[in-house]
Amino acid sequence: MSQHQRGATETQQELSLLSVRDLTVEFETDRGPLRAVDGVDFDVERGETVCLVGESGSGKTVTAETITKLIRMPPGRIVRGVAELDGRDLLSLSERDLRAIRGDRIAHVFQDPQHALNHCYTVGWQIREAIQVHEDVSDAAARERALTLLNQVGIPDATTRYDDYPHEFSGGMKQRIVVAMALAATPDLLIADEPTTALDVTIQAQLLDLLESIQTEYDMAILLITHDLGVVAELADRVVVLYAGKVMERGSVYEVFDTPAHPYTQVLFDCLPGRGRPLRSIGGTLPDLHDPPPGCRFASRCEYARKECHTGDQPPLYDVADAQTASCVYYGPGGDPDALRNGQSEGDPDG
Ligand code: SF4
Repeated sequence: MSQHQRGATETQQELSLLSVRDLTVEFETDRGPLRAVDGVDFDVERGETVCLVGESGSGKTVTAETITKLIRMPPGRIVRGVAELDGRDLLSLSERDLRAIRGDRIAHVFQDPQHALNHCYTVGWQIREAIQVHEDVSDAAARERALTLLNQVGIPDATTRYDDYPHEFSGGMKQRIVVAMALAATPDLLIADEPTTALDVTIQAQLLDLLESIQTEYDMAILLITHDLGVVAELADRVVVLYAGKVMERGSVYEVFDTPAHPYTQVLFDCLPGRGRPLRSIGGTLPDLHDPPPGCRFASRCEYARKECHTGDQPPLYDVADAQTASCVYYGPGGDPDALRNGQSEGDPDG
Protein backbone atom coordinates (compact mmCIF):
# COMPACT_ATOMS: atom_id res chain seq x y z
CA MET A 1 0.00 0.00 0.00
CA SER A 2 1.40 3.43 -0.97
CA GLN A 3 1.89 6.29 1.47
CA HIS A 4 -1.11 8.08 -0.08
CA GLN A 5 -3.31 5.05 0.36
CA ARG A 6 -2.27 4.69 3.98
CA GLY A 7 -3.45 8.23 4.54
CA ALA A 8 -6.74 7.75 2.77
CA THR A 9 -9.94 7.82 4.77
CA GLU A 10 -12.36 4.94 4.87
CA THR A 11 -14.68 6.80 2.53
CA GLN A 12 -11.89 7.29 0.03
CA GLN A 13 -11.05 3.59 0.18
CA GLU A 14 -14.51 2.87 -1.26
CA LEU A 15 -13.95 5.20 -4.21
CA SER A 16 -12.16 4.28 -7.37
CA LEU A 17 -8.67 5.71 -7.48
CA LEU A 18 -9.55 7.44 -10.76
CA SER A 19 -13.08 7.95 -11.99
CA VAL A 20 -13.62 9.55 -15.40
CA ARG A 21 -17.18 10.52 -16.28
CA ASP A 22 -18.65 12.02 -19.45
CA LEU A 23 -15.26 13.38 -20.51
CA THR A 24 -15.75 15.45 -23.63
CA VAL A 25 -12.90 17.33 -25.31
CA GLU A 26 -12.83 19.44 -28.45
CA PHE A 27 -10.07 21.07 -30.46
CA GLU A 28 -10.55 24.27 -32.41
CA THR A 29 -9.37 23.74 -36.00
CA ASP A 30 -9.57 25.69 -39.27
CA ARG A 31 -12.69 23.64 -40.07
CA GLY A 32 -14.36 24.34 -36.73
CA PRO A 33 -14.45 22.31 -33.51
CA LEU A 34 -13.29 18.71 -33.68
CA ARG A 35 -14.71 16.53 -30.89
CA ALA A 36 -11.83 14.13 -30.15
CA VAL A 37 -13.34 12.62 -27.00
CA ASP A 38 -17.08 12.38 -26.50
CA GLY A 39 -18.69 11.27 -23.23
CA VAL A 40 -15.98 8.85 -22.12
CA ASP A 41 -16.52 6.97 -18.80
CA PHE A 42 -14.16 4.56 -17.04
CA ASP A 43 -12.61 3.82 -13.65
CA VAL A 44 -9.16 2.77 -12.52
CA GLU A 45 -8.95 0.93 -9.19
CA ARG A 46 -5.92 0.94 -6.93
CA GLY A 47 -3.18 -1.40 -8.06
CA GLU A 48 -4.83 -2.46 -11.34
CA THR A 49 -3.90 -1.93 -14.97
CA VAL A 50 -6.51 -0.49 -17.29
CA CYS A 51 -5.69 -0.36 -21.01
CA LEU A 52 -7.22 2.22 -23.31
CA VAL A 53 -7.21 0.54 -26.71
CA GLY A 54 -8.03 1.80 -30.16
CA GLU A 55 -6.56 2.80 -33.49
CA SER A 56 -4.99 6.21 -34.18
CA GLY A 57 -7.60 8.95 -33.84
CA SER A 58 -9.72 6.99 -31.37
CA GLY A 59 -9.14 9.58 -28.62
CA LYS A 60 -7.07 7.49 -26.22
CA THR A 61 -4.12 9.87 -25.90
CA VAL A 62 -6.37 12.93 -25.63
CA THR A 63 -8.34 11.14 -22.90
CA ALA A 64 -5.17 10.29 -20.95
CA GLU A 65 -3.62 13.73 -21.31
CA THR A 66 -6.81 15.54 -20.36
CA ILE A 67 -6.90 13.80 -16.97
CA THR A 68 -3.99 15.95 -15.79
CA LYS A 69 -4.78 18.77 -18.24
CA LEU A 70 -1.65 18.23 -20.29
CA ILE A 71 -3.46 19.01 -23.55
CA ARG A 72 -2.79 22.49 -24.87
CA MET A 73 -5.76 24.77 -24.13
CA PRO A 74 -6.41 26.43 -26.55
CA PRO A 75 -6.76 24.89 -29.10
CA GLY A 76 -8.06 22.16 -26.77
CA ARG A 77 -11.19 22.70 -24.66
CA ILE A 78 -12.76 20.50 -22.01
CA VAL A 79 -16.44 20.74 -22.92
CA ARG A 80 -17.70 18.78 -19.91
CA GLY A 81 -16.97 15.87 -17.61
CA VAL A 82 -14.97 15.07 -14.51
CA ALA A 83 -11.79 13.14 -13.76
CA GLU A 84 -11.79 12.42 -10.04
CA LEU A 85 -8.75 11.20 -8.16
CA ASP A 86 -9.96 9.84 -4.82
CA GLY A 87 -13.15 11.85 -5.34
CA ARG A 88 -11.41 15.16 -6.12
CA ASP A 89 -12.05 16.52 -9.60
CA LEU A 90 -8.71 17.21 -11.29
CA LEU A 91 -10.32 19.13 -14.14
CA SER A 92 -11.51 21.89 -11.83
CA LEU A 93 -8.13 22.37 -10.11
CA SER A 94 -5.90 25.38 -10.68
CA GLU A 95 -2.63 24.85 -12.55
CA ARG A 96 -0.78 25.30 -9.26
CA ASP A 97 -2.78 22.56 -7.51
CA LEU A 98 -2.44 20.28 -10.52
CA ARG A 99 1.34 20.70 -10.56
CA ALA A 100 1.38 19.25 -7.05
CA ILE A 101 -0.51 16.18 -8.30
CA ARG A 102 1.45 15.62 -11.51
CA GLY A 103 4.53 13.58 -10.73
CA ASP A 104 3.48 13.17 -7.10
CA ARG A 105 0.23 11.19 -7.31
CA ILE A 106 0.04 10.75 -11.07
CA ALA A 107 3.13 10.27 -13.22
CA HIS A 108 3.36 10.05 -17.00
CA VAL A 109 5.60 7.98 -19.25
CA PHE A 110 5.42 8.92 -22.92
CA GLN A 111 6.21 7.07 -26.12
CA ASP A 112 9.55 8.67 -26.84
CA PRO A 113 12.04 8.85 -23.95
CA GLN A 114 14.11 11.36 -25.97
CA HIS A 115 11.62 14.09 -25.17
CA ALA A 116 11.28 13.26 -21.49
CA LEU A 117 15.00 13.61 -20.71
CA ASN A 118 17.11 16.75 -20.74
CA HIS A 119 20.25 15.98 -22.69
CA CYS A 120 22.27 18.69 -20.90
CA TYR A 121 22.12 16.97 -17.50
CA THR A 122 23.26 13.59 -16.22
CA VAL A 123 20.52 11.03 -15.63
CA GLY A 124 21.39 10.92 -11.93
CA TRP A 125 20.94 14.66 -11.60
CA GLN A 126 17.55 14.48 -13.35
CA ILE A 127 16.21 11.70 -11.12
CA ARG A 128 17.52 13.47 -8.02
CA GLU A 129 15.79 16.66 -9.18
CA ALA A 130 12.52 14.74 -9.70
CA ILE A 131 12.78 13.42 -6.13
CA GLN A 132 13.54 16.82 -4.60
CA VAL A 133 10.67 18.54 -6.42
CA HIS A 134 8.28 16.40 -4.38
CA GLU A 135 10.22 15.71 -1.21
CA ASP A 136 12.26 17.93 1.07
CA VAL A 137 15.34 15.71 1.32
CA SER A 138 19.08 16.40 1.25
CA ASP A 139 21.14 15.96 -1.92
CA ALA A 140 22.81 12.91 -0.38
CA ALA A 141 19.47 11.25 0.49
CA ALA A 142 18.05 12.08 -2.94
CA ARG A 143 21.15 10.58 -4.59
CA GLU A 144 20.75 7.39 -2.57
CA ARG A 145 17.10 7.10 -3.60
CA ALA A 146 17.98 7.87 -7.24
CA LEU A 147 20.52 5.03 -7.19
CA THR A 148 17.91 2.71 -5.69
CA LEU A 149 15.49 3.64 -8.48
CA LEU A 150 18.14 3.10 -11.17
CA ASN A 151 18.80 -0.33 -9.71
CA GLN A 152 15.07 -1.10 -9.52
CA VAL A 153 14.51 -0.29 -13.18
CA GLY A 154 17.44 -2.51 -14.15
CA ILE A 155 20.22 -0.08 -15.08
CA PRO A 156 23.40 -2.13 -14.70
CA ASP A 157 26.24 -0.58 -12.69
CA ALA A 158 23.97 2.22 -11.52
CA THR A 159 26.59 3.94 -9.35
CA THR A 160 28.83 4.57 -12.35
CA ARG A 161 26.02 5.28 -14.80
CA TYR A 162 24.45 7.83 -12.45
CA ASP A 163 26.85 10.43 -13.90
CA ASP A 164 26.25 9.55 -17.55
CA TYR A 165 24.23 11.70 -19.94
CA PRO A 166 21.08 10.46 -21.73
CA HIS A 167 22.86 10.13 -25.10
CA GLU A 168 25.13 7.51 -23.53
CA PHE A 169 22.16 5.12 -23.07
CA SER A 170 20.25 2.98 -25.57
CA GLY A 171 16.54 3.68 -26.28
CA GLY A 172 15.40 0.90 -23.96
CA MET A 173 17.67 2.10 -21.15
CA LYS A 174 16.45 5.68 -21.63
CA GLN A 175 12.86 4.51 -21.23
CA ARG A 176 13.86 2.70 -18.01
CA ILE A 177 15.36 5.97 -16.75
CA VAL A 178 12.10 7.78 -17.59
CA VAL A 179 10.25 5.13 -15.57
CA ALA A 180 12.70 5.70 -12.68
CA MET A 181 11.90 9.44 -12.81
CA ALA A 182 8.18 8.65 -12.86
CA LEU A 183 8.61 6.54 -9.72
CA ALA A 184 10.51 9.27 -7.90
CA ALA A 185 7.48 10.29 -5.85
CA THR A 186 5.92 6.79 -5.62
CA PRO A 187 2.81 7.80 -7.58
CA ASP A 188 -0.55 6.08 -7.09
CA LEU A 189 -1.21 6.11 -10.85
CA LEU A 190 1.21 5.79 -13.75
CA ILE A 191 -0.17 6.92 -17.11
CA ALA A 192 1.92 5.26 -19.80
CA ASP A 193 1.20 6.31 -23.38
CA GLU A 194 2.52 3.76 -25.90
CA PRO A 195 5.64 3.33 -23.72
CA THR A 196 7.05 0.49 -25.83
CA THR A 197 6.24 1.70 -29.35
CA ALA A 198 9.63 3.34 -29.95
CA LEU A 199 11.52 0.24 -28.74
CA ASP A 200 12.49 -2.93 -30.59
CA VAL A 201 10.58 -6.10 -29.82
CA THR A 202 12.95 -7.73 -27.29
CA ILE A 203 13.36 -4.47 -25.39
CA GLN A 204 9.57 -4.00 -25.43
CA ALA A 205 9.14 -7.30 -23.59
CA GLN A 206 11.71 -6.28 -20.98
CA LEU A 207 9.98 -2.96 -20.39
CA LEU A 208 6.59 -4.66 -19.99
CA ASP A 209 8.14 -7.02 -17.43
CA LEU A 210 9.57 -4.01 -15.65
CA LEU A 211 6.21 -2.23 -15.53
CA GLU A 212 4.60 -5.38 -14.16
CA SER A 213 7.21 -5.81 -11.44
CA ILE A 214 7.20 -2.18 -10.29
CA GLN A 215 3.42 -2.19 -10.24
CA THR A 216 3.47 -5.08 -7.78
CA GLU A 217 6.24 -3.52 -5.73
CA TYR A 218 4.61 -0.08 -5.52
CA ASP A 219 0.97 -1.27 -5.54
CA MET A 220 0.51 1.31 -8.25
CA ALA A 221 -2.33 1.59 -10.76
CA ILE A 222 -1.40 1.87 -14.43
CA LEU A 223 -3.45 3.49 -17.16
CA LEU A 224 -1.85 2.15 -20.31
CA ILE A 225 -2.58 3.64 -23.71
CA THR A 226 -1.82 1.29 -26.56
CA HIS A 227 -2.93 0.10 -29.98
CA ASP A 228 -1.04 -3.16 -29.40
CA LEU A 229 -3.27 -6.02 -28.24
CA GLY A 230 -0.18 -8.08 -27.38
CA VAL A 231 0.72 -5.44 -24.78
CA VAL A 232 -2.86 -5.51 -23.50
CA ALA A 233 -2.75 -9.29 -23.10
CA GLU A 234 0.51 -9.00 -21.17
CA LEU A 235 -0.48 -6.30 -18.68
CA ALA A 236 -4.17 -5.44 -18.54
CA ASP A 237 -6.67 -6.28 -15.84
CA ARG A 238 -9.40 -4.36 -17.61
CA VAL A 239 -9.80 -2.97 -21.11
CA VAL A 240 -11.59 0.09 -22.48
CA VAL A 241 -11.98 0.07 -26.26
CA LEU A 242 -12.29 3.51 -27.85
CA TYR A 243 -13.38 4.36 -31.36
CA ALA A 244 -13.82 7.86 -32.81
CA GLY A 245 -13.87 9.39 -29.34
CA LYS A 246 -16.49 7.02 -27.89
CA VAL A 247 -16.23 3.99 -25.61
CA MET A 248 -17.28 0.96 -27.65
CA GLU A 249 -16.63 -1.75 -25.09
CA ARG A 250 -15.38 -2.22 -21.55
CA GLY A 251 -14.60 -5.40 -19.67
CA SER A 252 -12.05 -7.53 -17.91
CA VAL A 253 -9.15 -8.60 -20.08
CA TYR A 254 -10.46 -12.20 -19.96
CA GLU A 255 -13.94 -11.22 -21.10
CA VAL A 256 -12.74 -8.98 -23.89
CA PHE A 257 -10.11 -11.42 -25.17
CA ASP A 258 -12.25 -14.56 -24.83
CA THR A 259 -15.49 -13.14 -26.20
CA PRO A 260 -15.01 -9.69 -27.75
CA ALA A 261 -18.54 -8.32 -27.81
CA HIS A 262 -18.53 -5.20 -29.97
CA PRO A 263 -18.13 -5.63 -33.74
CA TYR A 264 -15.24 -3.14 -33.66
CA THR A 265 -13.43 -5.11 -30.97
CA GLN A 266 -14.07 -8.31 -32.92
CA VAL A 267 -12.44 -6.85 -36.02
CA LEU A 268 -9.50 -5.55 -33.96
CA PHE A 269 -8.91 -9.11 -32.79
CA ASP A 270 -9.35 -10.50 -36.29
CA CYS A 271 -6.33 -8.36 -37.28
CA LEU A 272 -4.28 -10.51 -34.86
CA PRO A 273 -2.77 -13.79 -36.06
CA GLY A 274 -3.15 -16.98 -34.03
CA ARG A 275 -6.76 -16.61 -32.84
CA GLY A 276 -8.15 -19.39 -34.99
CA ARG A 277 -10.14 -17.04 -37.24
CA PRO A 278 -9.28 -15.77 -40.72
CA LEU A 279 -7.17 -12.61 -40.60
CA ARG A 280 -8.92 -9.51 -41.87
CA SER A 281 -8.32 -5.78 -41.85
CA ILE A 282 -10.77 -3.03 -40.99
CA GLY A 283 -12.08 -1.49 -44.18
CA GLY A 284 -12.99 2.19 -44.44
CA THR A 285 -11.85 5.07 -42.28
CA LEU A 286 -12.79 6.81 -39.05
CA PRO A 287 -15.77 9.18 -39.39
CA ASP A 288 -15.05 12.90 -39.68
CA LEU A 289 -15.08 14.11 -36.08
CA HIS A 290 -15.84 17.66 -37.18
CA ASP A 291 -19.28 16.47 -38.16
CA PRO A 292 -19.80 12.85 -37.15
CA PRO A 293 -22.79 11.09 -38.69
CA PRO A 294 -25.78 10.25 -36.48
CA GLY A 295 -26.07 6.85 -34.84
CA CYS A 296 -23.23 4.49 -34.08
CA ARG A 297 -19.79 5.89 -34.90
CA PHE A 298 -18.73 2.52 -36.26
CA ALA A 299 -21.73 2.07 -38.56
CA SER A 300 -20.00 2.91 -41.85
CA ARG A 301 -17.48 0.12 -41.23
CA CYS A 302 -19.71 -2.39 -39.46
CA GLU A 303 -20.81 -5.52 -41.30
CA TYR A 304 -23.71 -5.96 -38.86
CA ALA A 305 -25.11 -2.42 -39.16
CA ARG A 306 -28.91 -2.15 -39.31
CA LYS A 307 -31.12 0.79 -40.15
CA GLU A 308 -31.32 2.04 -36.57
CA CYS A 309 -27.52 2.11 -36.36
CA HIS A 310 -27.57 5.16 -38.64
CA THR A 311 -29.98 7.27 -36.60
CA GLY A 312 -30.10 8.85 -33.15
CA ASP A 313 -27.18 8.73 -30.74
CA GLN A 314 -24.40 6.25 -30.11
CA PRO A 315 -26.07 3.25 -28.42
CA PRO A 316 -25.53 3.17 -24.63
CA LEU A 317 -23.15 0.67 -23.08
CA TYR A 318 -25.41 -2.38 -22.64
CA ASP A 319 -24.54 -5.20 -20.23
CA VAL A 320 -22.96 -8.19 -21.93
CA ALA A 321 -21.42 -10.21 -19.07
CA ASP A 322 -20.28 -9.65 -15.47
CA ALA A 323 -18.05 -6.64 -16.03
CA GLN A 324 -18.43 -6.39 -19.78
CA THR A 325 -20.51 -3.77 -21.58
CA ALA A 326 -20.77 -2.89 -25.27
CA SER A 327 -22.19 0.09 -27.15
CA CYS A 328 -24.11 -1.86 -29.76
CA VAL A 329 -27.81 -2.27 -30.53
CA TYR A 330 -27.42 -6.05 -30.65
CA TYR A 331 -27.11 -6.04 -26.83
CA GLY A 332 -30.06 -3.69 -26.32
CA PRO A 333 -33.79 -4.45 -26.10
CA GLY A 334 -34.84 -6.79 -28.90
CA GLY A 335 -31.25 -7.32 -30.03
CA ASP A 336 -29.74 -10.68 -30.83
CA PRO A 337 -26.19 -10.87 -29.45
CA ASP A 338 -25.82 -14.45 -30.72
CA ALA A 339 -25.93 -13.12 -34.27
CA LEU A 340 -22.70 -11.22 -33.54
CA ARG A 341 -21.09 -14.08 -31.67
CA ASN A 342 -21.82 -16.54 -34.43
CA GLY A 343 -20.48 -14.20 -37.03
CA GLN A 344 -23.87 -14.01 -38.78
CA SER A 345 -24.74 -10.69 -40.25
CA GLU A 346 -28.41 -9.83 -40.26
CA GLY A 347 -27.82 -6.26 -41.22
CA ASP A 348 -27.00 -4.11 -44.18
CA PRO A 349 -23.82 -1.99 -43.81
CA ASP A 350 -25.36 0.72 -45.93
CA GLY A 351 -28.48 0.89 -43.82
S1 SF4 B 1 -24.39 -3.28 -35.17
FE1 SF4 B 1 -24.91 -1.14 -35.21
S2 SF4 B 1 -24.63 -0.43 -33.12
FE2 SF4 B 1 -23.57 -2.38 -33.29
S3 SF4 B 1 -21.49 -1.80 -33.81
FE3 SF4 B 1 -22.52 -2.20 -35.73
S4 SF4 B 1 -23.23 -0.21 -36.38
FE4 SF4 B 1 -22.72 -0.03 -34.21
